[in-house]
Amino acid sequence: MFEIKSIKNNTWYFESFSNVGIYTPDGKNAVLIDSCDHPRMVKSLDRQLSEMGLTVSAVINTHCHVDHICGNRYFQEKYGCRLLSTEKEKPFIRYPDLESELYYAGVDIKKESSPFFLAEPSETEIIWENNLPDGIKIVPLPGHGFEMIGVITADNVFFLADSVLSKKTWDQYRLPFFHDVNSTIETLEKIKTVKADIYVPSHDAPTDSIEDLAQYNIDRLKEKKELVLSLCEGRNVDSIYTEYVKKENIKLRASQYPMFAVMIKNLLQSLVEDGKIHAEYDNYRLVYELK
Ligand SMILES: [Zn+2]
Repeated sequence: MFEIKSIKNNTWYFESFSNVGIYTPDGKNAVLIDSCDHPRMVKSLDRQLSEMGLTVSAVINTHCHVDHICGNRYFQEKYGCRLLSTEKEKPFIRYPDLESELYYAGVDIKKESSPFFLAEPSETEIIWENNLPDGIKIVPLPGHGFEMIGVITADNVFFLADSVLSKKTWDQYRLPFFHDVNSTIETLEKIKTVKADIYVPSHDAPTDSIEDLAQYNIDRLKEKKELVLSLCEGRNVDSIYTEYVKKENIKLRASQYPMFAVMIKNLLQSLVEDGKIHAEYDNYRLVYELK
């Protein structure tokens, strides 16, 4: 843990809570895929890069979540490197507190406890067709983030960002976060068809076969949708939330409430898109009904 490890030829990764991809075409310059999950990990990664004689030439952010962008400012200040992201992720990397505002607004929890404040603001270039570093291809992976991408290096190593979560993550968080549940399922189906030599999820070990884990994620998400469907008739969001955590026997801290509540709403939205439920304003409450 917390070490740079070889994957294949010029492609390496820093094994951490959120893995960082490293692609070095010439043994001197390194393109990082994401920039670490915590400020203290950033320094450990940088020290090991220096020991390998590597200079950071670019950081590609797969998405804006704090555990993927913590080293942006540090690496740019130290190496003058490029920072790249997709257009919709850019404002949240520039202003990390925006995302905190999105989930914590109006909730009586100190916003300062939000992990999003760990990342310092940084300015990224928007990725377009012709401005990627040599040897790097991107793959859109909609669902988990606003406009998340994966990265495939010239060694055919596929960095999957948070599209495919580990079994451990599912066990630990019970209901991990996705902005758009149905897009996440479509993305997972697509990933099953992409032929890479090695796949690297952000929160799991590299593997030469991703199909089973992608299917595991699809099955878990479909189960969560079914559970919400069974609980929503005539209920509003707060009541569905309460029944959900009771049924799943989930113990949440107050600070975890906002994100979890958003995820319940996102599951409801996926069922609306499926045509299985609809929302109605009834007797001063927004309630969900089966169709
Ligand atoms: Zn994420």
